[in-house]
Amino acid sequence: MHKQIHEQLDAYYEEMVSIRRYLHQHPELSFHETETAAYIANYYEKLGIPYEKNVGGNGVVATLKGGKPGKTVALRADFDALPIQDEKDVPYKSKVDGVMHACGHDGHTATMLVLAKVLLSHQEDIPGTVVFLHQHAEELAPGGAKPMVEAGVLDGVDAVFGTHLWAPEKLGVVQTSQDALMAGADRFEIVIQGQGGHGAAPHETKDAIVIASDVVSQLQQIVSRRLNPTQTAVVTVGTFHAGSAFNIIADKAVIGGTVRYLDTHVQNIVMEEMERILKGVSLSHDASYTIDYVKGYPPVINHAKEALQILEASKSVPSVDTAEEIIPVMGGEDFSYYLHEKPGAYFFTGAQLEGHAYPHHHPKFDIDERALPIAAKMLYEIYMNYQEKSNS
Ligand code: MN
Repeated sequence: MHKQIHEQLDAYYEEMVSIRRYLHQHPELSFHETETAAYIANYYEKLGIPYEKNVGGNGVVATLKGGKPGKTVALRADFDALPIQDEKDVPYKSKVDGVMHACGHDGHTATMLVLAKVLLSHQEDIPGTVVFLHQHAEELAPGGAKPMVEAGVLDGVDAVFGTHLWAPEKLGVVQTSQDALMAGADRFEIVIQGQGGHGAAPHETKDAIVIASDVVSQLQQIVSRRLNPTQTAVVTVGTFHAGSAFNIIADKAVIGGTVRYLDTHVQNIVMEEMERILKGVSLSHDASYTIDYVKGYPPVINHAKEALQILEASKSVPSVDTAEEIIPVMGGEDFSYYLHEKPGAYFFTGAQLEGHAYPHHHPKFDIDERALPIAAKMLYEIYMNYQEKSNS
């Protein structure tokens, strides 16, 4: 069955590409993906695989019960796009102004739909149950994973796996981690309220630029002086807005930034230290502050056993030449919510288009579509590996 399924996935390459390109031309923003959800639902409708729509929002969940006993394994593909103008010069360029599949979620969807079609043709021989989780709104917190989990998509599920087509890595590379694979990603906005005045009379003011600069410089010491060096984080100030003219002392300053971490204990330390710095600096300058700290997705923490199964399963996919464990990347993903509930693991499938090395979320982002059947074969082999391991 393995060989046949691999051959079928290769034979349906053109269909995978055409689904991916259709979705690429018709991208929809997070929480507004109704046409994409309808497209996915219609695909399952035509196949005759039972599915549910509007799961936790625009989510679509299809279930394929195999003819042999086994575990229930969920596979996840997200399907939202980004508010980016497509600047590629290709026939399948986005037809929607200002909206683009700049992260490869179109490819995730195409991979999963064709995988479902191929597995259906072997339904009697498939052990266990495959749950196809088509998730909306990965790109915009609070995201689609959380409401889908709350809607019960993992009820009765034994394990959950997913992949991201990954442009930084070459075709044939698969990467995962037995622990943290991606970071938690929070954002903050700080407002420093001083007291403005004449540039020639600083003693009559509370200079918001000087105070906020003090804050920015002290924030740099959270990672370098407050965190245990073996437990890292990122505190980045990305925006600093203050002042209106060269001879006026600024009344107020607004600082925006992001915090990335791999462990919620570290996240708590960073939050406490930020508050302490703001209190201290404000006190010493007799100013006031407000902070709006928005927690984003928690880190993607893989389960070790399932991550090892990914590496093992990759040996059954001849088009994978490198399967490796990596240190975490500091980007965020709401796949984390599934891993809070059930064992499982997430992995990257190399999808770099040769000579076109634009990163994810770039207006010229694109993938090598030959990564789609590799991702499909990986998901299939992981599914089978999980079934075999659970029986022995
Ligand atoms: Mn993504």
